[in-house]
Amino acid sequence: MIQPKYIREKQWDGYKNRDFLKKDKDKVTVLFNYIERRKSFFLRSFFKRNGFKYEDLGDYILEDVRWGKEYGNRMECNPMYFTGGSLLRNLFRIEKETGLSKEEIVEKYVFVGGGGQCGPCRYGMYPQEYMKALDDAGFKNFRLIIFSTGFTRDKVDKNSALKINLPFRIGMLQSSILADLFHAAECAIRPYAVDKESAMEVISRAEEHVNKAFGQRFFFLKLPKALKEAGEMIAAIPKKDISLPKILVTGEIFANLAHNAGNYNIRRFIMDEGCEALPGYLTQRIMYDMWRMIKNYDRFVKYAENYKDKIKYTLVRIQIKARRRFVEFFWDTYIKHFNPGSFGAKMEFHDLDLIGELGEPYYHPEIFGGEGNLEIGEAIYYADKVDGFISSKPFGCMPSSGVSDGVMAKIMHEKPELNFLSIETSGDNEVSILSRVSMLLFKAKEKYNKKILQNDFVSIKKQEL
Ligand code: SF4
Repeated sequence: MIQPKYIREKQWDGYKNRDFLKKDKDKVTVLFNYIERRKSFFLRSFFKRNGFKYEDLGDYILEDVRWGKEYGNRMECNPMYFTGGSLLRNLFRIEKETGLSKEEIVEKYVFVGGGGQCGPCRYGMYPQEYMKALDDAGFKNFRLIIFSTGFTRDKVDKNSALKINLPFRIGMLQSSILADLFHAAECAIRPYAVDKESAMEVISRAEEHVNKAFGQRFFFLKLPKALKEAGEMIAAIPKKDISLPKILVTGEIFANLAHNAGNYNIRRFIMDEGCEALPGYLTQRIMYDMWRMIKNYDRFVKYAENYKDKIKYTLVRIQIKARRRFVEFFWDTYIKHFNPGSFGAKMEFHDLDLIGELGEPYYHPEIFGGEGNLEIGEAIYYADKVDGFISSKPFGCMPSSGVSDGVMAKIMHEKPELNFLSIETSGDNEVSILSRVSMLLFKAKEKYNKKILQNDFVSIKKQEL
């Protein structure tokens, strides 16, 4: 009998990830980036304050997709190729710049990255995918420090140099909120600035100013003043006295919030084409994660098999609600000092219960994975509030395929006033994607001008009466 070429003899347990131990802290550099430049820019301060050697890998670039595809598995989702590809690109750059061998790089560097959500999403596969690509690229046994979404608890080893524990999560949360503040500032200023280049320079200087305070040991004493001063610098930027059509961009977290090649830098494109892009906040996405976890635990409590389980699930639910309060506290406090209203930025969270209710007839809010019901609920909520609505969906994204390509067809049918466009971010095809966005913007401008004419007509009629 001919034997098959490969016989599975035992269960494959995946690639093993070595720990980054305290004893190696001084010899090892922590590499990191997540979603976009501003977020990792502020996270630098956490590493600085905690005595790590670190290197911020910054924004993703188009070349990352090529690296990701060359060493990753076929048919991964696009953020996997961008994030994994960025790590590989930088490791090869380090090899070239330092002259270190691959084996030396494996010992001298670690990477902090995300992974871990399950459900109809590939995020849970990220760590193994990173390790597969690193292995194939010759960086065998490279160490990864993985944090999961939702600011949940992970197992902490007492000898680990970098623990995904409460201080780290608070550092990430604070960095995310600070990045959101400056993103809101850019969205409020960029399309209206008298001189766009110098306005962006002022925003960069304000960022540096805040991060300098954030990087200090007693940053909590310095940060309020720095935020206030940064807000004042931004409020002083000269703006044109005009109003513009409003465009909302939504979709999967990376495709929505990567303000770089990861989503064709779509908000900046919109703003530079004469429309206002509403900001997209990572903190809002963190709130959604906690909202969906509370929904989960509501069900666990309801269907608990016994009284002991009921108590256990109730306590976890209380804990998540407390964490949500914690996020709101930082958000409200930083906003109070930064005063985004002084330069025309609005920083409010969605009412997630309302978004869930609106979307429920089309997509049950308890179907989790990716962005769940968010895009659908937002489309219904914003149908008469914005002039254009764009869903940015990564190539190969499983949850977004069901939503942006599936359910949204029904929403468009029922809400014809929604000027809707779904784009797929694959890392290439930029010209054709942005030309489709241009067409949406053209329609948005028409819609907006019609609205202005109607309003003018109504006010003239009122004056005549
Ligand atoms: S939501 Fe989609 S794009 Fe994002 S990690 Fe999951 S499968 Fe990939």
